[in-house]
Amino acid sequence: MGFENNLRKIAPYVPGEQPKNMNKVIKLNTNENPYPAAPGAEEIACNLKDKDMRLYPPTDAGKLSKAIAGYYGIDHKNIFVGVGSDDVLATAFLTCFNSEKPILFPDVTYSFYDVWAALYKIPYKTVPLDDNFKIIKEDYLQENGGIVIANPNAPTSIAMPLEDVEFIVKNNPDVVVIIDEAYVDFGGESAIPLLKKYENLMVVQTFSKSRSMAGMRIGYAFASDKIIQAMNDVKFSINSYTMNYPAVEMGVAAIEDEEYYKATIAKIVKTRKKAVEELTKLGFKVLDSSTNFLFISHKGVKAKDIFADLRSRGIFVRHWDKPRIDNYLRVTIGTDAQMKKLYEALKEILG
Ligand code: PMP
Repeated sequence: MGFENNLRKIAPYVPGEQPKNMNKVIKLNTNENPYPAAPGAEEIACNLKDKDMRLYPPTDAGKLSKAIAGYYGIDHKNIFVGVGSDDVLATAFLTCFNSEKPILFPDVTYSFYDVWAALYKIPYKTVPLDDNFKIIKEDYLQENGGIVIANPNAPTSIAMPLEDVEFIVKNNPDVVVIIDEAYVDFGGESAIPLLKKYENLMVVQTFSKSRSMAGMRIGYAFASDKIIQAMNDVKFSINSYTMNYPAVEMGVAAIEDEEYYKATIAKIVKTRKKAVEELTKLGFKVLDSSTNFLFISHKGVKAKDIFADLRSRGIFVRHWDKPRIDNYLRVTIGTDAQMKKLYEALKEILG
C-alpha cells in the first residue's frame, strides 16, 4: 500500500492558538479587533431567513463587492471578494505567480507566503529587511517572477512609505506586485490611489481587523481588469460560490457604517499610544507601529520566557522561534482593561 507516497506533503501555516476557555483568557495573539462588529451586522445575523440557506449565493458576492468598490471609488469590475484575505491571497498566488523566476518577499513577513509558494510550487526568494526591520526598496529591482509585500508589514508592524511602494511597482512592470494591506487602516498609507497608474498592482485588504469581522471571513482585492479576470477564471476553476449569504449581507452593513468603523480605529490607536508608553517604561523596545499590534523585545528577559509566563496567567500573545525574531513578542492591542491586565502581569514577571 503505497498510497501515502501520492499524498501531497506540505508544512502548513500555523495559526495563533485559539484557547478553549475564550471567556476567561485575554487574547492578544491573533490581531483580532477587541470591539464588536458594526451593530447593523449583528442585527442581520439575528434575522436570517430560510432563503439565506436554501439558495446558492451570488457568485460575485454582488451586493458586497459593489458596496466595497463604491466605498473606495473603484469600478465594480476591478474588485475580487474572497473568504478572508487568506483566500484572496491564495487565489492571487495561484493566478499571478506563474513564472519560473522566483517571487520575492521579505525574510520577516506574514508566514503564509512561503506556505502558498510551497503548495503551488512557486519558486521564491526572501529578501532581508535591514537591521531595523525596514524594507530596502532597491532590493526589489532584481529579476523576479512577482512580488508580495505586507504593508504595514507583519509581524514587524512597520509601514513603508507610499513612494517606496510606487518605486517597487513602477520598476517591476512585467510582474504582478501584491500589496497586502491587512493592517493599513490603523495608520498605513494605502496603495489604492496607485491603481489608476499601474496595471500590474494588486491591493488586498480584509474585514478581519479594522472592521472586527475575522469570524465572517471577508477579504478583497483591487486590481486591473486583466488581473481580476484571471483571478475569477482561477476561482471558477475551484469553487464558484465562495461567499456565503450572511457574510455578504453583514459585510454590506459594516461598510455602510463608516462612523462606527472610524470610532473603533480611533479607540485602538489611542490604546496603542498608551501601550507604547507603558511597555517602554517596563524596559521593552517597541517598534514603530502602524497596525493594531506591537512588536516588542525586552532587554533583560527572553521573549520566550515572557510568552510562557503570560500564557500561564491566561494572557495569550504571539512568539515565533525563528531567526531574527525569536526574542520578540507580537502583542495585539486589546481594550484598555485588557491592556491594563497585561501591564500588571508584565510588572510581576519582570520583577
Ligand atoms: N495578511 C496579513 C499580513 C495577516 O496578518 C493576516 C491575518 N492573519 C491576513 C493577511 C489574513 O487575514 P484574513 O484572512 O482574516 O483576512
